Amino acid sequence: MRLSMKDGKADYAEFTEMVDCYCVAECPKKIAIPDLFADMNAKQQHQDWNSDWYYMVHTQNAGKASDCIKCGKCEKVCPQHLNIWKLLETVAKEFEKKE
Ligand code: SF4
Repeated sequence: MRLSMKDGKADYAEFTEMVDCYCVAECPKKIAIPDLFADMNAKQQHQDWNSDWYYMVHTQNAGKASDCIKCGKCEKVCPQHLNIWKLLETVAKEFEKKE
């Protein structure tokens, strides 16, 4: 299963199907990549506003989406060939926007 794009935007609904992810083990910033994408999916696809709380939980003892240094190590092991660092930029904009 590959990530698709709709109207030029990533279809975050497909992130719920991510399994067997090795990307987190490779990440020097210990970003919980699949969890953050699932949070994004919950917010965008299901209007689940609890996802802000879950994003806080998933980044409490791990890296935030904005901590990504774009090293690409996660993308080398991603079976779906996702452009992870680019997608994390979108996640950071959604969950780390200033009030
Ligand atoms: S590109 Fe970002 S998310 Fe991927 S391994 Fe590097 S720091 Fe982690």
